[in-house]
Amino acid sequence: MFAGHLAAGLVLKKMERRINLGWLFFAALFHDFLLGILVLLGLEQIHIPANFAQTHYLTFTFPYSHGLTASIIWSLLGFGITYAVLPRWSTKERKQAGLAIALAVFSHFVLDWFVHIPEMPLLGENSPKLGLSLWNNTRNWSRHVLDFPTLFDLRTGILVRPKGEVTR
Ligand SMILES: [Zn+2]
Repeated sequence: MFAGHLAAGLVLKKMERRINLGWLFFAALFHDFLLGILVLLGLEQIHIPANFAQTHYLTFTFPYSHGLTASIIWSLLGFGITYAVLPRWSTKERKQAGLAIALAVFSHFVLDWFVHIPEMPLLGENSPKLGLSLWNNTRNWSRHVLDFPTLFDLRTGILVRPKGEVTR
């Protein structure tokens, strides 16, 4: 899904050309950066399910980084910070830049919602959870396209999986 998040940043770069692409990438990946920090702090958890060898996906307890309400708050914060740090731009330009960053942040929730199992809470950990389980319900080929560690070699058209595993 890493590639999907970066693609969202690229699309928004077309919409708002004045913003550095690096900031859009950062915004599009913000949820996962935050997850990493919160896991280190012990506030969120990454679980390795018992059937990981078959499913190849991890499960998560991540209400603060990946919840719907949290995502809206992070997006609004992204708008506010972007607006605040560009005092030399016109009000219209600051709003557009803030909107692009906010959309980049929220795009992470939308894309993750497609692929995660229902584990993305509406609010806190005990609230209803969202997730369309694309990773769970798709055949291997689509996992190759969506999975972070998969690399597509443009010259050969070969999908390279981790540990040297190669599929066509
Ligand atoms: Zn994520």
